[in-house]
Amino acid sequence: MAVMSVSRVAPAPSTRPGARSGARAPSRGPGPSSSFSGRGSRRCAPLRARYGMTLGEWCDENGEYGDKLLEEWYDPDRTVEEVTRGNRVYKGLWRCSAGCTKDGEAFTWEATVGHRTNSERPRGCPGCARKSPTDQNNLLQWCQDNGEHGRKLIEEWAEPTLAMKDVTPGSTKKLSWRCLAGCTEDGEAITWEASPNNRTGSLRTGCPGCAGKSPTDQHNLLQWCQDNGEHGRKLIEEWAEPTLAMKDVTPGSEKKMSWRCSAGCKEDGEPFTWEARVHDRTGSDRTGCPGCSPSTPISLQKRLGKVAR
Ligand SMILES: [Zn+2]
Ligand SMILES: [Zn+2]
Ligand SMILES: [Zn+2]
Repeated sequence: MAVMSVSRVAPAPSTRPGARSGARAPSRGPGPSSSFSGRGSRRCAPLRARYGMTLGEWCDENGEYGDKLLEEWYDPDRTVEEVTRGNRVYKGLWRCSAGCTKDGEAFTWEATVGHRTNSERPRGCPGCARKSPTDQNNLLQWCQDNGEHGRKLIEEWAEPTLAMKDVTPGSTKKLSWRCLAGCTEDGEAITWEASPNNRTGSLRTGCPGCAGKSPTDQHNLLQWCQDNGEHGRKLIEEWAEPTLAMKDVTPGSEKKMSWRCSAGCKEDGEPFTWEARVHDRTGSDRTGCPGCSPSTPISLQKRLGKVAR
């Protein structure tokens, strides 16, 4: 093989482009018959390798892997003699020779020649690498193979234009899901975004509404306050967020919100306002207005006019 290939780089560079393009089309036909042309060609080989060796020539010198690339080259516009082996710009079309399929056809993908002949990390078929959805590896298939959890994902899928078969189970793209367990927001079933990877991996996440992480009609701060007597009524009174409604926050939220004292302490003539996490006001360690608290720092007491300045 190596001897043959050296012989084939014999023509001077000027005659190269047209010389073998015809012989190689279609790309995976048998190579042109060998013609030995002596040792002179050996001297040009390194130069050509660096600057001008075609993909076809490179494949001829690279044994089984080269044969594989020749077999997989599927580009409609160029033959393997019409691209240089290091080309990192032109995206050729390739067709998997290892059996993975998409919608019943051999899987095809685009990649630059340079990416496939890179000696350190040659890139292979993304279908075989499970990076692209194939008939053998896709989210729908995964769901069908994963019993009850899989059936649930199929039901919860809420992407309007994307099919589950066109996504990999390991995809990290955020996609839409719709809760079917009954939690609602403003009367509509909760929808949320999560990657297939999150939903199929070991830490399978579910509906954030059901998990109490997102506010729902069934579980929100306003509802919590209405269910928690006097303390709840106080929180409703003290809520001081200008644009956020209590129903759009969870009782366990760790976010800081604004509150306004309902017990009469004032700053510059206005009811004292402060920030506190929702959770700190609904949890077991409920904090109240820092202005009213006996442990208020002197500095704040001064600000509030509670001690002589
Ligand atoms: Zn493949
Ligand atoms: Zn839910
Ligand atoms: Zn107060």
